[in-house]
Amino acid sequence: MIPVYRPFLGKKEKEYVLEAVESSWISSKGKFLNLFEEKFAEYVEAKYGVATCNGTTSLHLTLLALDIGNGDEVIVPTFTYIASVNAISYVGAKPVFVDSNPDCWNIEPSLIEKKITPKTRAIMVVHLYGHPADMDPILKIAEKHNLAVIEDAAESHGALYKGRKVGTIGTIGSFSFFGNKVITTGEGGMVVTNDKELAERCDHFKGQGVSSKKTYWHDVIGYNYRMTNIEAAIGLAQLEKIKETLKLKRKIAEEYTKRLKDIPGIKCQGEEKWAKNVFWMYSILVPPSERDALMFYLKENDIETRPFFYPAHILPPYKEKRGKYPNAELLGASGINLPSFPELTTEEIETITGKIKEFFQRK
Ligand SMILES: *Cc1c(COP(=O)(O)O)cnc(C)c1O
Repeated sequence: MIPVYRPFLGKKEKEYVLEAVESSWISSKGKFLNLFEEKFAEYVEAKYGVATCNGTTSLHLTLLALDIGNGDEVIVPTFTYIASVNAISYVGAKPVFVDSNPDCWNIEPSLIEKKITPKTRAIMVVHLYGHPADMDPILKIAEKHNLAVIEDAAESHGALYKGRKVGTIGTIGSFSFFGNKVITTGEGGMVVTNDKELAERCDHFKGQGVSSKKTYWHDVIGYNYRMTNIEAAIGLAQLEKIKETLKLKRKIAEEYTKRLKDIPGIKCQGEEKWAKNVFWMYSILVPPSERDALMFYLKENDIETRPFFYPAHILPPYKEKRGKYPNAELLGASGINLPSFPELTTEEIETITGKIKEFFQRK
């Protein structure tokens, strides 16, 4: 079976984990945690990084830090991974959905303004599948209406919007280091920001809301959202080779696009003029009537794939009428993530694309 994803681990990860274990600093303090926060923040061009136990908790912290809660509204694309939307619900705020752009698959800026009400506090932008969202018009709207901009960059480590790293273009950003993300710590996440006060608030909420001046004095309802030093050890090793990882991912994308772009019915993942895509998951769109059959065909041929996310407004907790977000619904029904792990070989890509061609020629 060719899997959709496999972490890209090497000697360094082992070496650092061993060092963490031998030092006995295996819990949520230690050298690797400090280094990973510092170096990752530096990599995404942020002043502060706050490591967490996963990318959902780091999103939750961004909302807590911004003091968003009951009665507030947060604008978010309906076409996203469910964690973006759930984090908004965790603080008691209401997710307000916006449709997607059919080309870059991210939130459509021109549809945001009509969703703003006096209760709106923030726009949560999600940079999906490695491709940045179009930030400039979003920043402009946010400024006009005095809204925070949260970036969910869980799928886009290192992606560039007009030359700037995503995650630090808005007010506050969040990354995930789950096993299949661009870099991984097993489970993990990080909040990044240039705002010292927001970073301190994230730290505070992440560590049970304990006062920095008085032991066991908890001045807010906090959480235990800490990352361990062992996880950070893996993260640091991963970060040290992120350039190589991204190079491999671009090469994989080129090899796929070269072989798939001329097949009628297939639309390959692209790259806007203003964007540098990191191709987290190489993805294609096919006619919805063919999608599941193609995935099944590939599975029969030992090739694992994933369908795109269901838009949140289709899922039971957030159910709204169908048809209000046509682009998101079409994307959700058309998309397939192909195997995209960094060590995927050109021969494997040849096999996968060969089977896709075969599928479309069978009929
Ligand atoms: C993976 C992901 C998250 C959540 O990250 P976890 O580390 O799995 O909690 C959030 N948003 C998006 C868009 C993601 O892809």
